[in-house]
Amino acid sequence: MWDHQGRDELRGLLKDVQNRESIDLETLVEGSLHAVEHAIASAIPAVVRCSMADFQHTSFYSGSALFGMPGMFFYDSQAGGGSGIVEVVAEKFGVLLEKAQLIISSCGCSDGCPSCIQLFHCEKQNEPLHKAGALLVINHLRKSFG
Ligand SMILES: [Zn+2]
Ligand SMILES: [Zn+2]
Repeated sequence: MWDHQGRDELRGLLKDVQNRESIDLETLVEGSLHAVEHAIASAIPAVVRCSMADFQHTSFYSGSALFGMPGMFFYDSQAGGGSGIVEVVAEKFGVLLEKAQLIISSCGCSDGCPSCIQLFHCEKQNEPLHKAGALLVINHLRKSFG
């Protein structure tokens, strides 16, 4: 997903939403990835058996971190790692995606709320987040990781 082809796929995937909402495509892609990141982060403690404080997460789309490629990171809060959380996250990514999808789709709100994609410790103040876009992205990811 995280290369030029992946970026084009993401854009294609979200094109319908963009047409419907006349929202800026870059903001939409970034908000969708960000919301997926949050939903996966919410799913991690249940699947990996750790607390929210044990790991950090971040996502980016237009930043320079991966040469402008979209991406998502989950990493250990402890410097040097060692708790094994990241390994389990990688191993169970399919399950995490499934849970994340459930968290988002089972929530009755329309644009995202603290029960689904908003996280109170978000370093970006929950901006931007896009709920409908996140579901599309998760569906897409589940085809590769499920
Ligand atoms: Zn919600
Ligand atoms: Zn965030």
